[in-house]
Amino acid sequence: MSSSPSARDGEGPRSGQAPSTGSGQAGAGQVRRGLLLVVSAPSGTGKTTLVERLVQLVPDLVMSRSYTSRPAREGETNGIDYNFVSRQRFEEMVAIGDFLEWASVFGNLYGTCASDVERHLAEGRDIVLVIDVQGARQVRERRVDTVGMFVLPPSFEVLEQRLRGRSKDSEAAMQRRLQRARDEVAGFVDYDYVVVNDELESCVERLRAIVLAERAKLRQAWPVAEQIVGTFTRKDTQ
Ligand code: ADP
Ligand code: 5GP
Repeated sequence: MSSSPSARDGEGPRSGQAPSTGSGQAGAGQVRRGLLLVVSAPSGTGKTTLVERLVQLVPDLVMSRSYTSRPAREGETNGIDYNFVSRQRFEEMVAIGDFLEWASVFGNLYGTCASDVERHLAEGRDIVLVIDVQGARQVRERRVDTVGMFVLPPSFEVLEQRLRGRSKDSEAAMQRRLQRARDEVAGFVDYDYVVVNDELESCVERLRAIVLAERAKLRQAWPVAEQIVGTFTRKDTQ
């Protein structure tokens, strides 16, 4: 994975990001609690590319930065693409309950820090976790209000082309990813939305529409609606 420094976890200048409209703020001192979103897809489908684009387009939406015991690949930077830690450190974090979810993927450990997620939600930002199906299951079990989006490639053949096009893997690693993809795709049934990543920009548009629709749901929109309704209270009852 590679990403721009600004794409993850809402830290630093978010270059290319649409200016905030303050949609995270409910007004009158009330902060809307953010939405917890999860995106999963077989490796090579394009989920990282899609979500990096999505967070540039949607204000008050950040992408979570995972922890991993995997060594950084060429071109990846600690604190940007992932928080790279030793296996021992990762296991200590598991033991003290630092993770909202974690999983072993291709022999490496990956996890989402619970306090990072909580900070964004409490400050009124929506956060999107780009994680595998095992991790998504744990998040759903712990947080019933999670919004799950599953991204499918147009076909197995297209997935293979994308993985080869990205060409970061040995042939053996490629075969492992393809086999895992065969197992993972059936997991789509557990998500709230399914989106096919055929053409990049139109797929991003569909993800954006989902986020905006979720924000307009009653539970999310309640604080701002209450505040507006409050302005309708008559002061001159004579
Ligand atoms: P993932 O995070 O799911 O493993 P990536 O975001 O790394 O996948 O994308 C895999 C490859 O597919 C990358 O080379 C990316 O540029 C390419 N890609 C992503 N979406 C599309 C698309 N809609 N059409 C063509 N290529 C795509
Ligand atoms: P990669 O090593 O190619 O960056 O990622 C391999 C897989 O790990 C991908 O399917 C990716 O979605 C998943 N992954 C990345 N971060 C996390 C995480 O924090 N938790 C879980 N469960 N999976 C993750």
